[in-house]
Amino acid sequence: MRNIFTVIADMILTRRCPGCGEPVDVFGKSDICETCLPGFKDISDKMFYVADIEYLKAVYSFTGPVRHGLHRFKYRGDGGAGAFFADRIAEMIKKEKFFNENCVIVPIPGNIEKTDREYVQAEYLAKRIAKKLKAQYVCDAMRKKKSVKSQTECGTLRERKENIANAFILNKEAANKLEGKTVIIIDDISTSGSTVSSAARTVKKAGAEKIYAACAARTPTRKETGKKYIVKCPPEMRTVYVINRE
Ligand SMILES: [Zn+2]
Repeated sequence: MRNIFTVIADMILTRRCPGCGEPVDVFGKSDICETCLPGFKDISDKMFYVADIEYLKAVYSFTGPVRHGLHRFKYRGDGGAGAFFADRIAEMIKKEKFFNENCVIVPIPGNIEKTDREYVQAEYLAKRIAKKLKAQYVCDAMRKKKSVKSQTECGTLRERKENIANAFILNKEAANKLEGKTVIIIDDISTSGSTVSSAARTVKKAGAEKIYAACAARTPTRKETGKKYIVKCPPEMRTVYVINRE
């Protein structure tokens, strides 16, 4: 039986599970509900090789409730889930040997001419992460070219790579904020790592000394899951692409 105190506490302090979005016990130990908890696979102890950066780290494997939570954040603007993932990324970065307060936090830019979900999203994460870490936050050092499609519109791995290869333009006026600095690129989800690589090459032009990347989640490779990935393809194409994300 819920007593009046619990009801009032729920109203004031409603805490929602970052996986399923359902309310969780405000006085419980975990932010994640019991059902979703086993699905939050922590992979923050692993370093992933991505071209043009030192290494990439992700907090979770992009599967099960993590996938649901990040989709809710991305497509339905669930700021609570976003805040949860940002805080986990900040905690992960804080433990890295390279980290100090002189590091610069840089989000992956989105399309500037429209209110782009991605833009708001990586920026939302990065802003909160920088605040938590008391690190510098720079979001105007680069921008995304207008011609670049959303990565989800690209069917094959090759298309994704070509689409994103030279996607970002350095903003020369703001670039001096990155000179000689250790830069940490923030993105929500890393799949092939091509977006991070492309952003890293742009940041390098500004004279960044070392570049790392931190994401909320990383899509496991085919080798890791033993499964084949089926990627959404444009409606006019009936073939279902099966790609190897490595
Ligand atoms: Zn849940």
